[in-house]
Amino acid sequence: VKLTLVYQGRESLDVESLSAACKAAGHGVRFIYDPGSFTASDNVFQSQILARKYARTDILLQRLVQEKTDLVYFHADSHAYTWCKDLAARLRERSAVPIVFGGRHPTFAPKAVMENRFVDNVLIGETEESFPELVEALAQSKPIANVLGVYFREDDQVRFSGQRAPIKNLDALPPPDKSVFENEILVGDDFVFSTGRGCPHLCSYCQEGTLHKTLGPGYFRRRKAASILAELETMKGRYRFSTVMINDPVFFTSKPWILEFLKGYREKINVPFRCYGQLKYLDDEIALALKQSGCYGVEFGYQTSSDKLRKEVCLRPETNEDAQRAFAICDRRRLRYDVDLIIGLPGEAEADFVVAAEMLAGARYLNRIKVHNLVYYPGAPILRIAQEMGLADEQDVRQAEAGATGDVCRTGSVRRVEVQQRVRDWDKFFKVMPILGARLSRYLARRRLNRFFGYLPSPLVMALQLLVAIRGGDRRFSIYIRYIFFRFKAHRNFLSEARQNNWL
Ligand code: SF4
Repeated sequence: VKLTLVYQGRESLDVESLSAACKAAGHGVRFIYDPGSFTASDNVFQSQILARKYARTDILLQRLVQEKTDLVYFHADSHAYTWCKDLAARLRERSAVPIVFGGRHPTFAPKAVMENRFVDNVLIGETEESFPELVEALAQSKPIANVLGVYFREDDQVRFSGQRAPIKNLDALPPPDKSVFENEILVGDDFVFSTGRGCPHLCSYCQEGTLHKTLGPGYFRRRKAASILAELETMKGRYRFSTVMINDPVFFTSKPWILEFLKGYREKINVPFRCYGQLKYLDDEIALALKQSGCYGVEFGYQTSSDKLRKEVCLRPETNEDAQRAFAICDRRRLRYDVDLIIGLPGEAEADFVVAAEMLAGARYLNRIKVHNLVYYPGAPILRIAQEMGLADEQDVRQAEAGATGDVCRTGSVRRVEVQQRVRDWDKFFKVMPILGARLSRYLARRRLNRFFGYLPSPLVMALQLLVAIRGGDRRFSIYIRYIFFRFKAHRNFLSEARQNNWL
């Protein structure tokens, strides 16, 4: 069967894995891709003017209409749901090809997605098994109700075939099909892979936590260290990667596993990497093993300096004491780290940010403080918590289901004036804080002089962040800069291909 996969956004391991599974099942796969340059899904630089200039939607629609395919699958992660929805609606006006939606947003809000009549099926959760089975059922006119994890219509009613358990043996899946992104992303610059799926936690605001809640027990899985290392060795031979991004939501959870994996990584791969960590799991032995294995950055979710908010609103298990202990270990082992904070948490207060600034000001190996705006993903427990506190309403729920949530970098979901003001007062201050030094940062935060940083021009803030990155040996910024130049070239190649094929 000839399949077309459509996706907008940054490199996605889910898409790569789905493509590999479809090819392994003997199907032809065509990949239709929009990197979403300069849009909300761009983590390097966002600009509405440039986003319009580099938009590919019309060309991709023309290609979808022109090229014969048996089924079009839209992988609609939250940031790209409205883009996928608009493109699919326009496609249905010009073609009767079956349209299937999968990805995070359809998993969180399947019924809302099925309300779009042009969506024939929604797949929820992991798709490597359900999508090839659905394709088979459609090709052979078998009942879709027998394929678990699928929403479909019967007698004009939306029905669900039943929950599919998370894939048990991840080692049995084919390796991610990196070729789908090869022309658009410098795959070897920052090789993205993951050692498993899911997260053991259920944080209220997080997509991983919401996926865990939706897909149920068995969602958090780790692959065998030997199997990952064998795959990485093959990929290293193919892509000659110079840095690695370990994309697990929490890389180190089990100490025996991480020490075994890192030992093998040092021996067989030995390439600098960065990863995500959880403050509670870090101890001295793990920090040392990370450092010795080439870890040049760990990103920790801290989110708020209030233990009460972290526990009762974020549903996170760690405390400020855990955070201080973990930061001290990193400082002792000279392990660079980033810290995530959220603005917009229900119940947060101005004083929480002062405390956060005072505490983080003393962190010596802190690379970046990443401030995120709270986003209400559909089904995320924080939306219910905010409703119970009278800080969100039915309109927020409907907007979340419609994908009109805003994004973590720019807008967020919280419309309240005081939250928008807090973003202006704190975002740029935290961004430049690592360069200000401990005493000055504390002085400015205590006297609320942080609010003047909101007037700093964004290019200056970016330049200061670059200085921090150079000082800390953070390789990401050089990767980002190379990628900016590469994507102009990739876009020119895309336009040239479009001209040759009359998609323009
Ligand atoms: S620990 Fe991190 S990835 Fe896991 S649910 Fe919480 S915020 Fe999400």
